[in-house]
Amino acid sequence: VIFGRPGSGKSSLAERLGADFGYRLVRTGELLRDAVRRRDFLGQRVEAHVAKGDLVPDPLMFELLEKSLTAPVAEKLLFDGFPRTIGQVHRLETIQQHLRFEIDAYLDVAVERDVAVARMTGRRVCPQCGATYHLVTHPPRVPETCDIDGAPLENRKDDRMEVVVFREDLYDRNAPEMLRYYQERHAERYFEVDGNQAFEAVYDAARTALRLSS
Ligand SMILES: [Zn+2]
Repeated sequence: VIFGRPGSGKSSLAERLGADFGYRLVRTGELLRDAVRRRDFLGQRVEAHVAKGDLVPDPLMFELLEKSLTAPVAEKLLFDGFPRTIGQVHRLETIQQHLRFEIDAYLDVAVERDVAVARMTGRRVCPQCGATYHLVTHPPRVPETCDIDGAPLENRKDDRMEVVVFREDLYDRNAPEMLRYYQERHAERYFEVDGNQAFEAVYDAARTALRLSS
C-alpha cells in the first residue's frame, strides 16, 4: 500500500514500481469507472451516486473492491492511495480476512504540505497542443506561454488553489490517525520515504525500503 498526500508524487511512484516490478495497481477511481462502464448491478448503483455528484459510499466502494480481487494471493497488488481513512482501514481488514491475504508493506511518501501545494498549483498545460509544464521543475521559456506554439498556458481545473487546499485539508484530517494505526500495528512492515526529494531519489529510496532490486 502506498500512502501520500495529494502532490506527494505517490501515483507516479506507484506507476513506476508497477511497471518495473509487475504490480497491478488498484485505484478506487479506476474501480468506479470500470463498474460504470460494465453497467451491471453494482455499476448502476455507482452511477446513481456519481450522477448526483455524491461521493460513492464506502460499503459500495469496498463491495466493488472485493469483487475485483479474485486471487489476491496469486497477484502482486499495489494499492495506490487508499485506504484513506481509519474506517476504510477496517473495511480493508475485513476483505483481507475473507480473501485470506496479507499486506507485505505500507509505504508512506512523506511530503511537507507547502511543497505539495507548490507542486500542484505550479502545473500548467497548453490548451492547444497538450504540452505540460511546471513553474518550478519544468518552466516554459517565456512565462505562461507554450514553447511549442506560443499559446497562453492554463492551470488545470483540479490544480486551482481552493481545490488543492480542500484536498490537502481532507488528507490532514484523515491520514494521521490511519498512519498511526499502521505504524503501531505493523511497525516491521511500515516504511517512510522522504518525498520532498526529486522523483528518482524517491524511487530509489522506495526500492531500498521495499527491498526491490532490478
Ligand atoms: Zn502548446
